[in-house]
Amino acid sequence: MEMNIETNRGPELFPRKVWEPANAEEAMMIKRQYGDNAVFVAGGTLLRTQWESGIVNRHEHFIRLDTIADLCGIGESDQHIEIGALTRLRECGTDATIAHHGATLYESCRHIAAPSIRNQATIGGNISSAVGDAIPALLVHNASLRWVDIGSEVTTIEQDLVDWLETVKSGRKSSTAVLLAIRLEKQTSSLTTEATEQSVDHQQEITFFRKIGRREAFTPSLVTVAFRAKIDPLGYFSQVRIAAGGGSGIAMRLLTCEQLLEGHRYHAEMITSLAMLASEEFVTYSDPFASEQYRKQTAGNLLAAGLWETIHAQIERR
Ligand SMILES: Cc1cc2nc3c(=O)[nH]c(=O)nc-3n(C[C@H](O)[C@H](O)[C@H](O)COP(=O)(O)OP(=O)(O)OC[C@H]3O[C@@H](n4cnc5c(N)ncnc54)[C@H](O)[C@@H]3O)c2cc1C
Repeated sequence: MEMNIETNRGPELFPRKVWEPANAEEAMMIKRQYGDNAVFVAGGTLLRTQWESGIVNRHEHFIRLDTIADLCGIGESDQHIEIGALTRLRECGTDATIAHHGATLYESCRHIAAPSIRNQATIGGNISSAVGDAIPALLVHNASLRWVDIGSEVTTIEQDLVDWLETVKSGRKSSTAVLLAIRLEKQTSSLTTEATEQSVDHQQEITFFRKIGRREAFTPSLVTVAFRAKIDPLGYFSQVRIAAGGGSGIAMRLLTCEQLLEGHRYHAEMITSLAMLASEEFVTYSDPFASEQYRKQTAGNLLAAGLWETIHAQIERR
């Protein structure tokens, strides 16, 4: 049963009520009852900045999710790893299983905000915001999300991240759903990141994550890109996944860029083509800090530089 704590603060201060649900069903019922006056709070790090800058209203009801058991932690089965939505970014950026099976997610979590924020911020909050830097990284790992929602009855939904982002874009995102967990495909063979190199089936996985911000670590990014592919000893790419996002834009897979590489052999001109194609394909926006054109070009340059550096680091290690 939920507990309702009344605070003794003046009318201009907040919160007025903090709810501590024992499970996701209770959390959703409180949200359904108070609608836009209530908000789910995980680590509270993004909400804090939104309240301070006036981007969102100062809600009357806070619904804590960290009081719900079983939403934290990292588990694995034969084919997947599963990350509880309330798992802190610090844990995602230090966990050996994620480093091995979700290399770009691991990297992205190490580059979100400062360590003090990562101790509090959750992976679920990063995703639910729809603009978190972990999203492009999760896109290249074919991530899916497990939600629980309440309509006429309580329903658990497993949804590809890509499909959920579409619901965000089209304004169909549920306001009562609670994100329970994130699921990533497990590595089936060897992994090669900028840091490690192993080969089991003669194909190696190469991954990278790059991010440009206005100030190192302390503000949301301007542009974020993630890359994951396999490459064989002759330099042919397969299973290419490329994504870009950043700022308040919705992250996307760059499918045309993926096709440029898929099944083709690496050659130096590919780098220039990738930069040009990515800047054409990436759908983004202008704001007072950066123009749309700047963001597009930056995405192209980050991908081109990342691919060049990763491939050449691999060649040097041979
Ligand atoms: C100084 C500073 C720097 C930052 N830098 C970055 C950065 O570089 N990159 C970046 O991506 N972010 C950055 N952030 C934003 C933020 O820290 C992260 O996005 C963080 O992961 C959000 O997680 P949280 O648990 O704090 O979310 P909260 O603030 O608690 O929630 C964020 C949103 O998600 C909803 N929500 C949270 N959990 C769930 C759930 N399980 N189910 C349904 N809805 C949920 C909340 O209702 C809210 O709308 C920064 C924040 C600060 C303060």
